[in-house]
Amino acid sequence: MSLVKYICVYCGSSNGRLEAYGDAGAVLAQALVKHNIGLVYGGASIGVMGKVADEVLALGGEVIGVIPKALAHKEVAHHHLTQLHVTDTMHERKMLMAELSDGFIALPGGIGTFEELFEIWTWAQLGFHHKPCGILNVAGYYDALIQFLDHVLAEQFVKQGTRDLLMVELDPYILLDRFINYQAPPIKTWLNKAEI
Ligand code: AMP
Repeated sequence: MSLVKYICVYCGSSNGRLEAYGDAGAVLAQALVKHNIGLVYGGASIGVMGKVADEVLALGGEVIGVIPKALAHKEVAHHHLTQLHVTDTMHERKMLMAELSDGFIALPGGIGTFEELFEIWTWAQLGFHHKPCGILNVAGYYDALIQFLDHVLAEQFVKQGTRDLLMVELDPYILLDRFINYQAPPIKTWLNKAEI
């Protein structure tokens, strides 16, 4: 039986330029519900965030929102979720989202999405968690970032093992299959860098 019960989705509080971004959120939502996986996300009703949550709810799935009180109004907290946690701070929000989730997926989004993705990937690199992390590269949105990450690898500021912790797929069903079958590699952290 799969150990993946909840997946955290990081994505834009805006819709972005293309309808494809929101549409991809809806397809990811369908894939989650099909696998009986609950959604954990930032709790907003707007942008790609709102699209993913609305589609999971429309299909009868479970949605847990986590929003800091300072943003509950600004980001228009979604009031029809299965559960909405309102935290005191942004750090508590991200920590709770991480604790509740068995894996992390980024859809297209802005700097908030990047910050969340990079933090959770960094935590995987350090062995603070052993959960899968991935990007859904919708309409080539993340092509330039992936190219830059190859540059970072070539310039030896990141190791191949760390780069490999971040999966990149176009199809949410393929990404979810990889998550469900994921076996975390042994992590060599900066603590035992001498062995790397
Ligand atoms: P964005 O991708 O910028 O539209 O933001 C997506 C989500 O990330 C929103 O729920 C933002 O509240 C959140 N966010 C923005 N800045 C940060 C940050 N520094 N740390 C964590 N989350 C953030």
